[in-house]
Amino acid sequence: MTIIHNLGFPRAGAQRELKRSLEAYWAGQASQEELLETGRALRAHHWDVQSKAALDLVPVGDFAWYDQILEWTSLLGVVPARFAQSDDAPVSLDTLFRMARGRAPSGTPVAACEMTKWFDTNYHYIVPEFTPGQTFRIAREDLFEQIEEAQALGYKVKPVIPGPLTWLWLGKGDAFKGVADPGKLALLDALLPVYEQVLARFKTQGVEWVQIDEPVLALDLPEQWQEAFRRVYQDLNQSGLKLLLATYFDDLHENVELLTDLPLAGVHVDAVRAPAVLQAVQAILGPEQVLSAGVISGRDIWRVDLEHLSQSLQALKLDLGERLWIAPSCSLLHVPVDLRSETGLDAELKSWLSFAVQKLDELKLLRGLLDGTLDEAGQQAVQTQQAALKTRRESKRTQHPAVQAQMANIDQFRRQRAPFAQRIDAQRNKLNLPAFPTTTIGSFPQTTEIRTARRDWRGGALSDAAYEKAMQAEIEQVIRFQERIGLDVLVHGEAERNDMVEYFGELLGGFAFTQNGWVQSYGSRCVKPPIIFGDVVRVTPMSVAWSAYAQSLTERPVKGMLTGPVTMLQWSFVRDDQPRADTCRQLALALREEVGDLERAGIRVIQLDEPAFREGLPLRKGDWQDYLDWAVDCFRLATSVVSDATQIHTHMCYSEFNDIMPSIADMDADVITIETSRSNMLLLEAFEGFEYPNHIGPGVYDIHSPNVPDKDWMLRLIQEAAKRLPAERLWVNPDCGLKTRGWAETEASLLAMVEAAKVLRAAA
Ligand code: GLN
Ligand code: ZN
Repeated sequence: MTIIHNLGFPRAGAQRELKRSLEAYWAGQASQEELLETGRALRAHHWDVQSKAALDLVPVGDFAWYDQILEWTSLLGVVPARFAQSDDAPVSLDTLFRMARGRAPSGTPVAACEMTKWFDTNYHYIVPEFTPGQTFRIAREDLFEQIEEAQALGYKVKPVIPGPLTWLWLGKGDAFKGVADPGKLALLDALLPVYEQVLARFKTQGVEWVQIDEPVLALDLPEQWQEAFRRVYQDLNQSGLKLLLATYFDDLHENVELLTDLPLAGVHVDAVRAPAVLQAVQAILGPEQVLSAGVISGRDIWRVDLEHLSQSLQALKLDLGERLWIAPSCSLLHVPVDLRSETGLDAELKSWLSFAVQKLDELKLLRGLLDGTLDEAGQQAVQTQQAALKTRRESKRTQHPAVQAQMANIDQFRRQRAPFAQRIDAQRNKLNLPAFPTTTIGSFPQTTEIRTARRDWRGGALSDAAYEKAMQAEIEQVIRFQERIGLDVLVHGEAERNDMVEYFGELLGGFAFTQNGWVQSYGSRCVKPPIIFGDVVRVTPMSVAWSAYAQSLTERPVKGMLTGPVTMLQWSFVRDDQPRADTCRQLALALREEVGDLERAGIRVIQLDEPAFREGLPLRKGDWQDYLDWAVDCFRLATSVVSDATQIHTHMCYSEFNDIMPSIADMDADVITIETSRSNMLLLEAFEGFEYPNHIGPGVYDIHSPNVPDKDWMLRLIQEAAKRLPAERLWVNPDCGLKTRGWAETEASLLAMVEAAKVLRAAA
């Protein structure tokens, strides 16, 4: 029989049990024993689910209290000096939590380690921090205990660990320059012996297969990193264990060569992202080596065509026989747990979807098809699935004739506004703003009253009229506040929005929402990405009434606030039956209508937030331009309906943008507000070789911190910016929205920010 296995299971629990338990523990409301028990119960349950799905090997090591990379970092005893970890004591759970979030029930609070995105996913890992003379040792026993735990329950386990090269690549340290710094490879001398010790421990535990994750193989690797693969795997092969090297998220391209003659028992590849990778690896596979084909997507929620998939694997199966394994493409961490928890989705839509538990069922059916061993129930299940896919292909609800007609003529929509110089003159006349205009990014503090009003209205406890009144009162208060503080371009405050994507998605056609479709974003935080299942269509204006009401209260310009097309796409599960670029264009067309309506309602400034613009970049540089071309096109498509005098803003955060500045300029927004204060205006380096042509507001107030920024400090940041960019192009604004802040600090901070702008104006 073809072996089926899994790279990792979502750890938080279908009802976010781990989140609740973690937060109770952190808040001092639950003991560590209770937390440990929650973890143990979740692991046992997840192994049970996986073994019921007939997996031949269940993963161990995919569980993490906060993050799987942090688990590994602490197992290796890599704890930065500020956490005062002694060299011979084990790393405690509270130290692990302090590394993740700065504080824990015990131990001194200290600056947390950095957190950043895991490849091209929306999951965040804790960045390992190391020093040039870094030492390593086995400093936590959790993983070994979990192996025992699974074995005691009778499962055949496959430990899953980060590969040394991926782990080093992801780490940082003052002595190292960025991810690719080959200087980090010098740490291998000390690191590999500890990997060997870990593998030796596995061996004494009776482990046969170990999965070692090296997703860096999907990246453009500098030569020294490529060369290190041979050394590392020759070394680790001494363990006598069977090593399954796992890569995912993209093709291997030239890195496939690195695997030739590498002493591995097997290689896992992502055949969903890159179907051709199967042939490429097959070609270099040794006579004993296993090829694990990742054929069920760990990144989306669509059921697959099992018959087609099975046929496409026949040739490989014929060639490799038992040496062909099948699995999800990557860890199932990135999909929700169980579709059966969804009671709000209709039966048809549900029949198209597959969450982690269902994906394992699909895997089992696929094996049955491939091996010709399906029993009657299995055949029935395959037939049901094939029928569901047929309804999806033929469904009218995924197609909207008017949108299709627009898409057929997509080139006819204007993307080119008049030259910026001409626009900005028209805008100056209309807006009459001072030098160094001040504004905010959109949201104001979301108080308990606001959340309660929204919840009551959704639940039916608050009438439409009462809800509208409550929101209008909030808008009025926010407008008066901004006038009093002296801001120049005002916002309505976004009180009506729970989430910047969900709010619009719920009003657009083509989107569906789950009740429990939680996916871990970081630590205890989970998100419920919307599902774009059909053509996106604007059925009703979405923001016009709120913005128009806000504008009716003041003479100053109020910014209309929208979420941009790329961000809407990036933070959703996207349909797989058409190119992402097409779905993005549909989103752009819908937003374009909203932009036009806002302008007609008298809104003079319109902002489309694109915080996820950079996240959409493919892993390989060679694929960047294609993405940037359509992403920029979508933004222009959404915004180029307005007259010269209407000012278009965009906002970006969460990343550094230096390497894509020319594309950001190409979006041709009149004004971009952009996160910079956390990185101390690192962004400005981008302007050494490239002059940003339009207006720009480098964020001077770090809204991620409750601290009130000092006026002189903000002043200095803007003066820094003015050395590199003409002063008349600069705006003064915070880094991001204020919805997570309290009112008191918001007021003090914005007052100081406006004061800083006044000083600049006086000096000009
Ligand atoms: N307009 C949004 C806000 O202010 C932007 C949020 C974001 O950039 N993530 O909340
Ligand atoms: Zn932001």
